[in-house]
Amino acid sequence: MLYVVGDNLMVTGAQIEAGLRKIGLGRGDVVVVHASLSSFGRVKGGAQTVVGVLLEVIGAEGTLIVPTFTYGLGVFDPGASPSVVGAISEAVRTHPNALRSLHPTHSVAAVGELADVITDGHEKTHAFARGSALFKALQARAKILQLGVTHTSNSIIHVAEEIAGLPYLDRSGLVRFKNPQGKVVEKWLRRPGCSQGFDVIEEILDSQDAIRETMIGECRARLMSARSVVDAALEALKFDPQALLCERPDCEVCAQARAMVEATEAEKLDKEIIDLAEEEERMRRIIENRLSGGEVKFFDAGDEYTSPN
Ligand SMILES: [Zn+2]
Repeated sequence: MLYVVGDNLMVTGAQIEAGLRKIGLGRGDVVVVHASLSSFGRVKGGAQTVVGVLLEVIGAEGTLIVPTFTYGLGVFDPGASPSVVGAISEAVRTHPNALRSLHPTHSVAAVGELADVITDGHEKTHAFARGSALFKALQARAKILQLGVTHTSNSIIHVAEEIAGLPYLDRSGLVRFKNPQGKVVEKWLRRPGCSQGFDVIEEILDSQDAIRETMIGECRARLMSARSVVDAALEALKFDPQALLCERPDCEVCAQARAMVEATEAEKLDKEIIDLAEEEERMRRIIENRLSGGEVKFFDAGDEYTSPN
């Protein structure tokens, strides 16, 4: 049912539930949600309604995961720092059963069966490296749900960048956070790169029919497996280590990343040239040695084609 409120159509929880079930979200699912509340138009009950429906659809056996990123803005306090990536993310973070990982820049909040496993130990590794919350979501065969957003916020693509071991992963920034004793600590941490170029994987996913989608009010809801997203990103990277970088001329992050890729490629090329030169030098010495010892036999160019018979 659509309720007319003034000029706006108001979306209900029942409509959201029907839409999510239609694209294949169901009981027991582990789901990473990236969402824009305003993309629905207006939702009756706001972000709480969306979160309530998500938990209802996946049931107690399921696990709901959302980014609660803070990007190193201010001092990260896991119990208090609000998520800066949207109202739905913040509604999950403040849910009474939510656990939040302790990563100082890219924490996630989770509710459900695997919430403890997903959030545990995130602070001991890089934001999206092996052992991080979204790396574990990938291992748990998670689905990715996009509500009114595209791959530019599909954070699991950063996991693919880690798996590929790209040359531009090692950019770092100074971050401040509260440690378990409540003391403010300052530390240099690896900063994940820009995600504005991530929509390049859409074509690959499209060709594989990997995304199911429907409209809920004005929101385009899309569901896909985390594995299909990571595979698509790795496929794009196989041909070009710069494939996921954005084209915006003013993006300093991607400019720096390109320079890091090119420096690594130049280093590889230098090594190949040195190896080749060393090989030539080795051959020259062998030939010289043979010539001085008189052991090298010269033959006419035609000889090597002569059959022994
Ligand atoms: Zn960029």
